[in-house]
Amino acid sequence: MPTLSTAIPRESPSPAIIVPTSSPEGLTISYPELSNLISRFQSSLAEIGITAHSAVSIALPNTLPFVVSFFAVANQRSIAAPLNPAYTQAEFEFYIDDLKSKLIIVPPGSTAANAPSVRAARKFGAAVAEVWWDNKARDVKLKVTEDGKQAGRGKRTEVVVAQEEDVALVLHTSGTTGRPKAVPLSHKNLTRTMSNIINTYQLTSTDRTYLVMPLFHVHGLLAGFLAPLASSGTVIIPPKFSASTFWRDFITHKANWYTAVPTIHQILLKSPLPSPIPKIRFIRSCSSPLSPTTFYALEAALEAPVLEAYAMTEAAHQMTSNPLPPAKRKPGTVGIGQGVEVAILDDAGNPVPHGEEGEICIRGENVTKGYINNPSANASSFTSTGFFRTGDQGKLDEDNYVVITGRIKELINRGGEKISPIEVDNAISSHPKVAEAVSFAVESEMYGQEVAAAVVVKEGQQVTKEELGKWTREKVAKFKVPTKWYFTDVMPKTATGKIQRRIVAEAMLKKPK
Ligand code: ATP
Ligand code: MG
Repeated sequence: MPTLSTAIPRESPSPAIIVPTSSPEGLTISYPELSNLISRFQSSLAEIGITAHSAVSIALPNTLPFVVSFFAVANQRSIAAPLNPAYTQAEFEFYIDDLKSKLIIVPPGSTAANAPSVRAARKFGAAVAEVWWDNKARDVKLKVTEDGKQAGRGKRTEVVVAQEEDVALVLHTSGTTGRPKAVPLSHKNLTRTMSNIINTYQLTSTDRTYLVMPLFHVHGLLAGFLAPLASSGTVIIPPKFSASTFWRDFITHKANWYTAVPTIHQILLKSPLPSPIPKIRFIRSCSSPLSPTTFYALEAALEAPVLEAYAMTEAAHQMTSNPLPPAKRKPGTVGIGQGVEVAILDDAGNPVPHGEEGEICIRGENVTKGYINNPSANASSFTSTGFFRTGDQGKLDEDNYVVITGRIKELINRGGEKISPIEVDNAISSHPKVAEAVSFAVESEMYGQEVAAAVVVKEGQQVTKEELGKWTREKVAKFKVPTKWYFTDVMPKTATGKIQRRIVAEAMLKKPK
């Protein structure tokens, strides 16, 4: 039965992980070595009383200690809860309390520095363990620095074997449309997504991916890390994305694909490109809409097929993706269901006629059983036929490719006319002088809501709102053209580079027009 432990091979002709260092080979971990590191760490967890179904928060950047502690926690039948290490104390408190974490794993020195993670752990009685890579011993070391009353420390437990229905991971949704919701994902959910991703991109042991997305969200964890490992390939893990080291590492360690949010693709397009461009098998884009303009620019610049995928936390990441060549990839679409059933349903849960808009709903072994402590969201999220309601509006095109037209909660309702903000964004951002555009609703006495847009102009360029209005009018119906324009130097984004229209709207409404 598939669990994370059985899904990750013990042997492979390729290295499992390469951490770029100052030496050209980097720190290379083979599959057998990774497996030993994980087993030893699992024993350390048992020794400090971590047992089945305990939540363990992992507040580490993308590093070997993250990798090893994540697998060890899941293998010990406990629940890994990765958290952004840059959170404030209040944010750590929210997540530690929400999951009743018994232990929080932090970088060395956090306790001495009285870090926000440690202060939050103390408040809720969670134990704190510092973990680090000991290069001489070639081992991940763990030291409990704060005893929590919840941890049961001293009560040594046994090493156990995880089962496929055990919850392995809890992550919170991004909180784009409200308070973040806690999503439990079982070994079965995760391993299902891992095989779906392997099948979609035909990943093998000869593939090497360069991980730029954080491991504390499903995108980096599943597509950038777990799926490539389950296919016996190699994951190159820098501590974080940096445009200035991206190509050096990518070329040195012979990467041949990467997955990222559109923001990262855009940053790469603005940065100096290597010459010649290395051979890239494919580039995956996910988590936010990729405008057709960026799609074409990326394909031309990096000489590789760009495959846009569609994912969410509740689905253990991937639901649909554009397929590899020679099958068709279509900019402006997120491709087809990949081991996941997709249906476009109306409010009553019935399929809408082909080509018409409705709610994108999905069904598959990758989907969570339901949110933690959230009966009202659970009641409204599943249809009677077991489909999960994504909250996204969309339709199927003539080839059955999914076109996302917006989030139901973010649709702009102008006097009863529902406007897809993504369509407006794409129209504006196709203007040659525009780097980025995000549209959103503003209150209007006349219509209830009207369309506004925040625009980042390309460096060294100038453009007026009249010029943009005229351009947009040529692409979309008049009622969809923004009536309010905000020019800004930076578009507010989340830690993972996601656009949240609510946050953009709040930031813009404070600015002079
Ligand atoms: P919350 O559920 O708390 O409001 P969230 O939905 O942003 O936050 P995530 O699970 O991180 O939390 O994101 C999933 C959402 O991201 C999807 O429902 C969809 O709206 C959006 N998304 C993912 N991939 C794409 C894509 N390729 N194009 C457009 N939107 C996408
Ligand atoms: Mg969501």
